[in-house]
Amino acid sequence: MKRVFRTGAIATGLVLAACAQQAPAVQELQLPPRGMTIGIKFDQPGLSTRTAGGKPQGFDVDTAVYIAGKLGVGPEHITWREARSEQRENLLTSGAVDFVVASYSITAGRRQLVSFAGPYLMAGQDLLVREGERAIERPEDLNGRTVCTAEGSTSAEKIRRSFARTVKLGTRDTYAQCVADLISGTVDAVTTDDVILAGFAREHPGVLRLVGHRFTRERYGVGIRKGDLDLQSRITDAIRMMVDDGSWRRAMQVHLVADGYQPLSPPTVFNAPDKAVAPGDPTTLDPELVSTARAVAATSNARDWEGFRSLVCPENADAIDEIVLQYTPQYDRDIGTEVKSAGFTNNVTGITQNDPDSATFILRESFTNVPEKYSHYFKDIDYTGTMVRRAGAWKLCSLTADFVEP
Ligand code: GLU
Repeated sequence: MKRVFRTGAIATGLVLAACAQQAPAVQELQLPPRGMTIGIKFDQPGLSTRTAGGKPQGFDVDTAVYIAGKLGVGPEHITWREARSEQRENLLTSGAVDFVVASYSITAGRRQLVSFAGPYLMAGQDLLVREGERAIERPEDLNGRTVCTAEGSTSAEKIRRSFARTVKLGTRDTYAQCVADLISGTVDAVTTDDVILAGFAREHPGVLRLVGHRFTRERYGVGIRKGDLDLQSRITDAIRMMVDDGSWRRAMQVHLVADGYQPLSPPTVFNAPDKAVAPGDPTTLDPELVSTARAVAATSNARDWEGFRSLVCPENADAIDEIVLQYTPQYDRDIGTEVKSAGFTNNVTGITQNDPDSATFILRESFTNVPEKYSHYFKDIDYTGTMVRRAGAWKLCSLTADFVEP
């Protein structure tokens, strides 16, 4: 936001000079932000492309416009800047853009350099092939074939890490270039997030096909300058509003619904991921709270769903179930049956009691017995729960989840 407030700072300086010794109330003199530069992709149909007239459009664009609006900047004051996969961190650290909304997955590695608000969208890495291709249904089928993706993406990283021995990887600057190579026959598949590939499949009906097998989970965040916690929480609030007032779903319907693409639900994690709940001091915690938090973990570990439900606030039980379903690979539509034998263990790793009747706790979920083929799919999860004491009994009243990055 350095750029945004520069106008205000100059104005303040001028007034200061004019008023000589009089110390003005700086707060009153600060002008609202006049303009903003936002980094987006220019060639990802559905998420963000440009019309013939150069106007950007897509789900990421709508998200960026909505957020800018909540920060006091109208669409006419937005400057759009291309942010290719490999350029995003540089654009943020150099201050060339105020924020980035560009299919940008939140990862631990990137969080060393930038911060994220959100997430605002969930996706998963998938494959795009030529319509007639029947031999490629999963990444394991790419044996000896050539796959294209964008440099600087998590998609490239995933292929290098998990499939380098079998797959020939070619990288380009953008996915649109990979798609051109797929159509011309230079490569056998394009890999990146399903939501991006679905846009290309829709643009080339009868020519390209989205395979429809997600093999990673990607949480898109709005990239911001590292450590700008104020902006992080203002953008997170804006995303929450976008979901709550129906704009999120409308943008999804307008831009992203494509044949064969099944969008994931809006992400349930709306947190400022740089913050964590500090482990509680057990000597000051209500012992009943501690035993209820442990019972939440124990009933879940025993798959005793009736017992689990008895600890949950009834009005939020469905929402809590939905989060667990969304994050646990064993319940995933695509791979659930193949990974049923995997086990999970939940442990309470932190409790903070805010007052006699409310508390927050973290439950770390780890997985065991994961089939090797799907090892990349299982990440530990930190569930953050709020507990409320009602009529003397502690209940779990809300839950959010966050993947623990390796
Ligand atoms: N979401 C992935 C990433 O951030 C792939 C899409 C992209 O490159 O924009 O790397």
